Amino acid sequence: MPQTLSEPMGGALSSAAAMAALDLLGVDEVTRQLLLRPDHVYSAQLAITTDAGREVSLPAWRVQHSNARGPYKGGLRFHPDVDLDEVTTLASLMSVKTAVVGIPLGGAKGGVRVDGRNLSAAERERVARAYVRAFGEYLGPTKDIPAPDVNTDGATMAWVLDEYERLIGHSAPGVTTGKPLGMFGSQGRETATSLGGKYVLDELLDHLNIRKRPLTVAIQGAGNVGGGLARLMAEDDRFQVVAISDTHSGVYRSAGLDVPDVLQHKTKTGSVENAEYSHNITNSELLTLPVDVLVLAALENQVTATNAAEMEAKIVLELANHPVTSEADDILSQRNVLVVPDILANAGGVVVSYFEWVQNQQNFYWPETEVHQRLHQIMHTAFADVVRTASAHNVDLRAGAYVVGFSRMLTALRWRGVIH
Ligand code: GLU
Repeated sequence: MPQTLSEPMGGALSSAAAMAALDLLGVDEVTRQLLLRPDHVYSAQLAITTDAGREVSLPAWRVQHSNARGPYKGGLRFHPDVDLDEVTTLASLMSVKTAVVGIPLGGAKGGVRVDGRNLSAAERERVARAYVRAFGEYLGPTKDIPAPDVNTDGATMAWVLDEYERLIGHSAPGVTTGKPLGMFGSQGRETATSLGGKYVLDELLDHLNIRKRPLTVAIQGAGNVGGGLARLMAEDDRFQVVAISDTHSGVYRSAGLDVPDVLQHKTKTGSVENAEYSHNITNSELLTLPVDVLVLAALENQVTATNAAEMEAKIVLELANHPVTSEADDILSQRNVLVVPDILANAGGVVVSYFEWVQNQQNFYWPETEVHQRLHQIMHTAFADVVRTASAHNVDLRAGAYVVGFSRMLTALRWRGVIH
């Protein structure tokens, strides 16, 4: 049985940018605690049999941060470093993210401590189903809606849905998002985080009136999100992707990579390493390349106080969650590096998750063009809201995004009578 634990704090929400936003909003200490601490923390041990017949017990969590603005919403990751602190931080980021883009959902996150990359499909299925059996009573289309995250995908969500429906005995496709198209998924969900990030970057370049082309780009992460953005950029002559990396290695070519070729090499061999017409670099070398734009699309805490001073990019796009530590964020801001924060830059994923959920609830499905149009509209509005707020308060984009997100959360808490 899952247990309820005493609630820890969401780390990212105690960053300097988040604190600056709370100060600007004049939030008192009691309200601060309400905003920062998760509503519920559930933990369980999942008993799994490996393909080799070994019994293992995997620690697992679901943290529900806030449902003030709608049902709890957030991904489920399978990673060996998952712990309660990380899941809590990521859950709190989801609450602010859904508020920044103004969709009627709250924030949550789930994780299982397991090396998701090395699971067979059958093992992954057993983990996903065990997760739903452990936490199923807290999930539901109007309660808490998981989605893919690190090392989980559409197939994982199909198992989550199937196990949940077996548990409750009736159809409930909206219990999870990021499902495959043949299993109540939405057009455009798989590429949504990359496309949303690209829309935000395009808006930023127009806003700053940056005319240089092509802009050179290094991308940390060649998975669904990083690889997806690389593909989109390869089709746009404003960008030239010169480097990309995966967990194993990175590749660099100053004259620009052949992106489809590199990604095909990764599909074939499991890594971008040794892709043709490029040379291998390490992940840390990628972060300090002399490029115009650095895209962080891997894991959290990649840019730290140690490497932030050496970064040469002028713009950083955070497609992963919390890839820049708070200390590094201060250094980058002193160095006038423009950071487009995760809670805006990577929100395209949860926006199309919201569309998927709407389609599931209505049992009526939209064409891809409609998904793209609506995603573009939402990202355009969110970008404008964040830029306007940041410049009104003379703060950076991250603090501006926190002001937008927190103020929407506070409004909901006021209407509910939780605060006055
Ligand atoms: N895992 C994604 C994120 O961190 C998507 C979450 C969702 O769609 O609920 O934003």
